[in-house]
Amino acid sequence: MESNDKQQPKGAGSGKKPGRQLNFYWVYAIVAMLLLTMAMLGDTAGKKQLQWSEFKELAKAGHIAEVSHDGAFASIHYDKAYSDSLRLGKDEPSFLPQAYGRADATMNIPVGEIYQTELKELQEKHGFAVRYEPPNEWGGQILSWVIFLGLMVIVWMFLMRRLGGGPAGGGQIFNIGKSKAQLFEKGQGTDVTFEDVAGVDGAKEELQEIVDFLKSPDKYTELGAKIPKGALLVGPPGTGKTLLAKAVAGEAQVPFFSLSGSDFVEMFVGVGASRVRDLFKQAKEKSPAIIFIDEIDAIGRARGKNANFGSNDERENTLNQLLTEMDGFGTNSGVIILAATNRADILDKALMRAGRFDRQIYVDMPDVNERKFIFDVHLRPIKTDTSVDVEFLSKQTPGFSGADIANVCNEAALFAARKGRKLVTHQDFLDAVDRIIGGLEKRSKIISAQEKNTIAFHEAGHAVVSWLVEFASPLVKVSIVPRGQSLGAAWYLPEERAITTTEQIFDEMCASLGGRAAEEIMFGKISTGALSDLEKVTKQAYAMVSVYGLNERIGNRSYYDSRGESTFTKPYSEETARIIDEEVSAVIERAYARAKEILKDNKDKLEALAQSLLDNEVIFKEDVQRILGARPFGEPPLLVETAVTSVDDEDSAGQTPAADAEPAEDVAGKDNPVA
Ligand code: ADP
Ligand code: ZN
Repeated sequence: MESNDKQQPKGAGSGKKPGRQLNFYWVYAIVAMLLLTMAMLGDTAGKKQLQWSEFKELAKAGHIAEVSHDGAFASIHYDKAYSDSLRLGKDEPSFLPQAYGRADATMNIPVGEIYQTELKELQEKHGFAVRYEPPNEWGGQILSWVIFLGLMVIVWMFLMRRLGGGPAGGGQIFNIGKSKAQLFEKGQGTDVTFEDVAGVDGAKEELQEIVDFLKSPDKYTELGAKIPKGALLVGPPGTGKTLLAKAVAGEAQVPFFSLSGSDFVEMFVGVGASRVRDLFKQAKEKSPAIIFIDEIDAIGRARGKNANFGSNDERENTLNQLLTEMDGFGTNSGVIILAATNRADILDKALMRAGRFDRQIYVDMPDVNERKFIFDVHLRPIKTDTSVDVEFLSKQTPGFSGADIANVCNEAALFAARKGRKLVTHQDFLDAVDRIIGGLEKRSKIISAQEKNTIAFHEAGHAVVSWLVEFASPLVKVSIVPRGQSLGAAWYLPEERAITTTEQIFDEMCASLGGRAAEEIMFGKISTGALSDLEKVTKQAYAMVSVYGLNERIGNRSYYDSRGESTFTKPYSEETARIIDEEVSAVIERAYARAKEILKDNKDKLEALAQSLLDNEVIFKEDVQRILGARPFGEPPLLVETAVTSVDDEDSAGQTPAADAEPAEDVAGKDNPVA
């Protein structure tokens, strides 16, 4: 989520004053003080412990001045001359004031009548004082209390700092129930308008009504019409939901409270609910206003599931409070709630009821035309030269969201700047697209000639198979320039099908396995380079068998769990699990066999293509066509597009393929059966 908050938005509620930063080193000072006091008070700490025989020696030598004891434990004071002589050579901390009653040594008087009498005899003979003191634990007790209290204070201070989330030490804890919403007042970042949001015309139309209401509520209320209290923006990330909500605020010139669903969540019970209350209170004070809750699924997830986890209670409370507030405030209070999510299906049904988020506005991934408009919006601030072909760029960016396109434009400008150009060229944009799909080119990466050969045949294998099967996506280019995590890649311009047939998935699997098949045919051995191919194929096969009901043995069944209800239990038996696994391997092996067959029949073409790759590193569709001839089945009709590339991994050892280049989405995620 980007917010164009160039001006520092005023934090609403959290009220962070430019508080004075307390230095916490004084905590250490307290600890040091405590230790010092302990040393000073400590009557006996660190003192020499005398044995009875040693004591007798000292007494006979006349060094003992005083013995005070409670019958078992004795503190011993030497006479002045002796103790001075002792202190001379030692590193006794002389800076400590000689506290009253500090003993020179201690001793445990052995148990037994005879030692008591012996002590008495020694006393009479050598004339030192013996005092009997009843056991006195006061000193020790006070000390431990002081330490205990000190520790408590320290712990408390730390907790305060933690909770308050601010450096002001203390105080902040009282703000924990306040909403964390960012407030954009008039003119502060709410200058976004519908002009800045491209391509989502349907959504804009629906939101226009809300804008009208916020501008002139009377027009509606006079007719007795009720205005929706909330609208839910549903769509994948980066499609401009936040931007739309901001544009509504900007169009209507009203304050805009923005926060994320997770801002309500705290580990303390009741905090979420109180934050909701506070948010609505603030919004009503500023009404008409818009509250925008991003990622509302963080609190709006259906209640009552997995109820055995304690944390759910708190979330439920928060959600309940949200529902209550939405019911509670009058229709005409002028506060409108917009929320965004990419999983409308998991939201609590109560949220969607009439009078709450009764409008759902779908914000979908942009198609070719919409991408063009989005490019236009983001090209506005960029200085481009005349070579930039927006039409072509929007065709080259299937599956890109608005945020991705914004990113492309920015990257292109960065490329141009890096090369010291004054204007951004078309090539910069193409490089930016490639970079976002596959990472930066690493021409300097060291690859042996033999590895390069393998990669060339692998990519050529993909190209040949995808060229010769009926339904595989049309090829755009093949490259063996390493970039990011990958060593080579084949770019396709896939169609964004609304529905996909078994044959289409199968053909795509064949094309994905073409790389490995080529390696086996040419070199008789296979490598780790096919990791991401295999990952994709495996996902597709599982989706075929267990999600889309495209397998004969499993039949017309889907074990897809769109609501994520059974996380721990599988909705099928062990027996079925076994069949699914069997069928998955069967279909993959079939696809692999077919890919190998195609490549064996066209070995000369495979070799020619690989050679061309080795010579040029990057070859385009036209080159492929020259070598392989026209596609036997013609190009599949271009409806709309989705996935982008097939990227090959350098090796499987602990490396994850670049996620953004992962086209498996089109089967497992995108055309999900709910839609
Ligand atoms: P979401 O909230 O749906 O995840 P955002 O609204 O945060 O997406 O979009 C992020 C950025 O992507 C926006 O700030 C904007 O620059 C760009 N963007 C996304 N969709 C569009 C669009 N339809 N038109 C123009 N820019 C867009
Ligand atoms: Zn591959």
